[in-house]
Amino acid sequence: MASATLSNITVAQSKSVHILVSSEHFDLKRLSDPSQAERFQEALDEARHKFGHALCMCRPTPLKLQVRLRDGKYHLAVWPEQGSMHDSSCIFFREDEAGPETEIATQVKENEDGSREIRLTFTLDRSSVASTPRPQTASRLSVDDHKQSEQASLRGLLHLLWAEANLTRWHPSWERDWGRARYELFQAAKHLTIKGATLGERLYVPRPYRESMQDEINREWDRFNRSLTRGQVEIIKSGLIVAPVRKFVELPAQESGKTAAFMHLRHMRTPIGLNDATYSFLQNQCKTAVRRVFVNAQENERAKEPRPAGWIHLPQPEVIAIAHVEANTRGGIWARGVWLMSVHPRVFIPAGNTDDILLIDALMRDGHQFSRLLTSQQPMARTRPEWTLRHVYDPQGIPVPRAALEILSNGAMPEFVSKRAELADALATKGIPVWTWTPLGRQLDRVVPPLPPPERVQKSIALQTLCAMASAPGTFYAYGSRNESQINH
Ligand SMILES: [Zn+2]
Repeated sequence: MASATLSNITVAQSKSVHILVSSEHFDLKRLSDPSQAERFQEALDEARHKFGHALCMCRPTPLKLQVRLRDGKYHLAVWPEQGSMHDSSCIFFREDEAGPETEIATQVKENEDGSREIRLTFTLDRSSVASTPRPQTASRLSVDDHKQSEQASLRGLLHLLWAEANLTRWHPSWERDWGRARYELFQAAKHLTIKGATLGERLYVPRPYRESMQDEINREWDRFNRSLTRGQVEIIKSGLIVAPVRKFVELPAQESGKTAAFMHLRHMRTPIGLNDATYSFLQNQCKTAVRRVFVNAQENERAKEPRPAGWIHLPQPEVIAIAHVEANTRGGIWARGVWLMSVHPRVFIPAGNTDDILLIDALMRDGHQFSRLLTSQQPMARTRPEWTLRHVYDPQGIPVPRAALEILSNGAMPEFVSKRAELADALATKGIPVWTWTPLGRQLDRVVPPLPPPERVQKSIALQTLCAMASAPGTFYAYGSRNESQINH
């Protein structure tokens, strides 16, 4: 995992490589050139014998890299404990902690070829003669443990995919739109397997809709549809769809008094059917996200009308769905389970509300490298910071590899505030300062206070920002939670 070989360097499109091997510079372009492979091996051999290591030049201060020999071939590996010190676009960068805090992360096993096997609580191929009712006739299916664990598995899978596709992270050199996000999701899905089969083969992520791409889009959708078609044997095949949700169209209540719905996804013509059990489960488990979809759909309608003078548009999250789907006998696509996640509408970084979006926008505007931790833990149980910032000035104006960010709601429960103070103290012992923002006043007037300055700005400017931060209301940047440790200029 920690080694960089020629083959995995070429697939890591969003990564950069700047290394010195025995004083010779290698970058992505050179390493992707097969004619350079031999020279690279020679340089590694020299580096190993002469210096004992190579150097990564991604940051102003070079970082050591290990030169390892495996099966007669040299590889580079990140120096122990230094993964998080690399630039976050560097191929040797590693998050300090393992992936998202989610059910599935603990169930991931590494395969021999380096890909990773995921264990889900549901199967993608099931027998049609089994006792489980078919989705289109499942109106009497109760909300049971089975459904609960399937939803949890879907949530875990979505979190894992998002993190693996780097959609939880941002680097100022990156650009992202839905097309890019889709590409990254498929790259990630190539390295994940379910019962030995590549996840990418069972996954449909729609291309951004363009008229010129119509034929290609239809072909891809047909291919996915065919993969769901039942063969001679009584096996019902299923697949996974990941896409932003455009709207829910509710169907008249059935005899149970519950409502079924069609979920319309962006960039897709075919809606996904949700039977009443699935829809009611979704309304319970992803309440805020479902409401968000309705609000966004209404806003979308109203956007066509003229706005009153002085109208301020408040940015709202977009909602992403992961749906586990089957085809019914009439060719309709029905979901067996769905999970929803709110994200930033343009860069798809997880964002629960307007304050999260304002923070992401401010971080991007200031050219920050940052990541968002995905978690299924209750807020009280969280033991890791939700936002991590890389390579910034600390409260005293000294560059540090990382800082934690936190948005604390005004009027948060005292128990929660004290839990977060404990976390801040624990982070301080690891040399990680915490920047806290407590948004105050009307949502319309909110402005993100000054952020920890990035390491690349001049120190004098960084100190000015730190000063401005100290007097900005609702902000606190310090090591640990104690008031006396607040910066003193
Ligand atoms: Zn590096």
